[in-house]
Amino acid sequence: MSTLATRPITHSLHYSQEVLNRVSFLRKDPQFIDEALSHSETQFIPFENYLPFVNERDGLLLRLRKVEVSSFLDGETSSQNFVFLGLLFSGQSNFVYRSRYRGTPTFALDISNGGLSQCNLLETSKPVRKVENFKDLNRLTLEDSSIVSQARMYLQWLDTHKFCSICGSKTTHVYAGTQLKCSNGDCASNKGVSNVCFPRTDPVVISAITNRDNSKVLLCRSGAPRNKDRKLYSCVSGFVDPSETLEVAVAREIWEETGLHTDKVEILVSQPWPFPNNLMIGCIAIADDTQVPDLTHDCELDEVRWVPCSVLEKILKQDDSDSGFIQDELTGLNLPNNRSVAHMLMDFIVKTSKKNTVEK
Ligand SMILES: [Zn+2]
Repeated sequence: MSTLATRPITHSLHYSQEVLNRVSFLRKDPQFIDEALSHSETQFIPFENYLPFVNERDGLLLRLRKVEVSSFLDGETSSQNFVFLGLLFSGQSNFVYRSRYRGTPTFALDISNGGLSQCNLLETSKPVRKVENFKDLNRLTLEDSSIVSQARMYLQWLDTHKFCSICGSKTTHVYAGTQLKCSNGDCASNKGVSNVCFPRTDPVVISAITNRDNSKVLLCRSGAPRNKDRKLYSCVSGFVDPSETLEVAVAREIWEETGLHTDKVEILVSQPWPFPNNLMIGCIAIADDTQVPDLTHDCELDEVRWVPCSVLEKILKQDDSDSGFIQDELTGLNLPNNRSVAHMLMDFIVKTSKKNTVEK
């Protein structure tokens, strides 16, 4: 069995950049949150139904000052509108807490109840456009996409957990929107150690499958209704089951979807995926390509096809079209674009294949 190349430590996928110092230990400090909320440089990123706005001039995320969003921050329910995201790493900032934590405080602000018309937009913030769909999200810079990902995960989680999962009482936001608290003082969630009201992240494994000499990749075409027209070929993926290692989850998903048994699994890279709250864990799996695929276990795939890395390489180099994925008219193979973890995994196998060829 050949050896895979060295795994990358950093990567440039969407939603994955470390833009903010989250200072998670300060979320419980009311003085810090008060100072962060009231500082003149603090930025509020407005969201309507979990989608942000961009400046039409430069396409950058709309960031507002407190004076522009004061109508959302005043009043009894204001503490239910915002989430503290962190202190911005980049740029100069005059905000310093306890003489050691510096950076522009950044909050996500839910303006779904009222909309942008209730903000007092300064001229410097205009004109603006709402991000409408997945393609618009794809056009965000890596930094902006990462802030949006963090904000979306919190805002969606807060919105879908308005009642305690133990006793059914109403929940309230605490620690600047980063935790929930059951309003019933007798509830078990308010006693001892409990994580029922913490934000959740669901692990999802996604794996590219290569053969034993890394010369081919098994491309998989999903039979999901949304894939009927676009005919996208990608990797195998699925949620990690309770009490399952990532490696076992990959091998199980591969067998359930393709009928193939896996020799080896390597974990390569991870990517937050805010639709709604997943962490994609990108892996490479090695399987004997003389096995006969069997798609009849869970019937999720319509087709699998071993494709030589030499063919794949040419397709992966292409830019994606407006459709949001690469369309190769010559082979009919449509592949995920270079902002996705699936693309990165396939590209990694192609590069490994070339390296192995050179070393032979
Ligand atoms: Zn409760």
